[in-house]
Amino acid sequence: MKDILELMNTDNFKYIISIDCEGTNFDKNLENNVLNLERFLKLNSDNGITTILFITPFFADMLHKLNLTEKIKEYNVIFGLHIHPENLPEELNLKCSFLKPEEHLLASYNFDEQKIIIKHSMDYLKEKGIEPIQIYRGGYFSMNNDTAKALWELTDIRFESHNIYREQYSVNNGLLTSLPVYAKDEKEELRLEYFSSDKLIELLNEAKEKDRYAIGVTHSYLLDPLDFHYERDGLKEDIHQIQSKLIQEESV
Ligand SMILES: [Zn+2]
Repeated sequence: MKDILELMNTDNFKYIISIDCEGTNFDKNLENNVLNLERFLKLNSDNGITTILFITPFFADMLHKLNLTEKIKEYNVIFGLHIHPENLPEELNLKCSFLKPEEHLLASYNFDEQKIIIKHSMDYLKEKGIEPIQIYRGGYFSMNNDTAKALWELTDIRFESHNIYREQYSVNNGLLTSLPVYAKDEKEELRLEYFSSDKLIELLNEAKEKDRYAIGVTHSYLLDPLDFHYERDGLKEDIHQIQSKLIQEESV
């Protein structure tokens, strides 16, 4: 485990990767994807790269079932909270009776409702051994001032990470420190499955000129190189291969 405050204390440029660790909404192959997580963490840790895991309750449950929670804490990782309100385990749905099945954005709920969803999600992750939780990212990058206020009041989380150009992100109350995903606009972001490795290397090099760090993003449903997303979306390289190339570039 790594303390998030250490991340920004750096003289040299740092590439950081984040993974949105999704649940059954996107992942029809959750167990196999979780089983391929450690390999990705090892690659990063061996090369001094931090991985921020934004974890949904369903993903936490699978980590717990597979007895991997303690194991992954041995790597260079930071835990974050990730919420898709339409995809919560039944025991959380029962505690949040106001949930609308078709509502995908946490920020569409009012302050009191967001507080309840966040509280129960945090409790659930902690029960599954996911702690400390140091940072937040909303599903579909959904976050507003109420989300920041709820996190501030209820939790120890003082950081959030989003593509700040997305319309679903609307935060200006300054409560939490933003560690944004490296992005040029709402579409062009350092996302491993969006672009070829050549294009990603170009983005990483641009980032190097502008800032001391760049946070990339990818998704847990790509951890298994045999996952159906690769064929469905015509992705030629898997995220392990792409990440290896970016790591080489980072150290140049
Ligand atoms: Zn997500």
